[in-house]
Amino acid sequence: MNPASNLAPAPENPAAGGLRIEDISFAYNDEPVLRRVGIEVPEGEFLSLLGPSGSGKSTLLRLIAGLERPTRGRIAWKGVEIVGPGIERAVVFQDYSLFPWFTAQANIALAVAKAHPNLNRASRFELARDYLSRVGLGDAAEKYPFQLSGGMRQRAAIARALALEAPVLLMDEPFASLDPVNRGKLQDLLINAWKGSSPRRTIVFVTHDIDEALYLGDRVVLLGASQGGRLLAETPVPLPRPRERVAFFASAEFRALREDIAERLDADIISSLASV
Ligand code: ADP
Repeated sequence: MNPASNLAPAPENPAAGGLRIEDISFAYNDEPVLRRVGIEVPEGEFLSLLGPSGSGKSTLLRLIAGLERPTRGRIAWKGVEIVGPGIERAVVFQDYSLFPWFTAQANIALAVAKAHPNLNRASRFELARDYLSRVGLGDAAEKYPFQLSGGMRQRAAIARALALEAPVLLMDEPFASLDPVNRGKLQDLLINAWKGSSPRRTIVFVTHDIDEALYLGDRVVLLGASQGGRLLAETPVPLPRPRERVAFFASAEFRALREDIAERLDADIISSLASV
């Protein structure tokens, strides 16, 4: 086994690219949370994982991160089963995940050290400042997390995730606590960072906001809460990029997709209420 990545050896199909979630189930204390979920995420895709509270979105992300193991099926990256956390998968949670006793720059420098263990301290800090500048925080490098606003902390968390240089970025409602203006800014910043990465990163982005899922995603996968986390639908978002925010939300294509997803979510909520 490769200790750095926690991936199992001997891939069954080394040619299989991207992230494959193969017919997985998961339960907490015998309570089913995900049932027979299968999703293929090609390399470089921006996948939005959408669903109501309790549909198992965060659990699925934790499984991909390798923080939990499925009770059935398997998850693989590039044909190799995921059996634990690994440096090829960076995770951004809603709660910023910065060390409070380090400056923003020192926080990012830690991530740089993981990606480049042989860099000296000065170069790590220099690269860290560069990542902070990319998210508009170049002037806040010396500040501690408590001195930053929520939006700034989340920018730093994104810089930290980018600095890990992981090909897979797993994001769990990272903008949920932000006001609409900051949320929109960070959505665009994330899209620009994703488009600028080469090779393009694979992103799995959890949200319960239909507009956010559609605006960001190449595809939206819908999980339902009824009968414990099931896959309800997979919806490609064929609107071209770059997406200009105002035109995107005004377009007939967006409105049709939104309506379709909202109807499916309503039906799922009604059916989960009926089963209570
Ligand atoms: P979502 O992210 O869609 O809101 P979660 O994956 O957080 O859904 O939770 C799915 C279900 O699993 C919920 O019913 C939740 O109560 C349950 N759950 C989540 N985490 C735990 C845990 N650590 N122990 C027991 N049950 C949990």
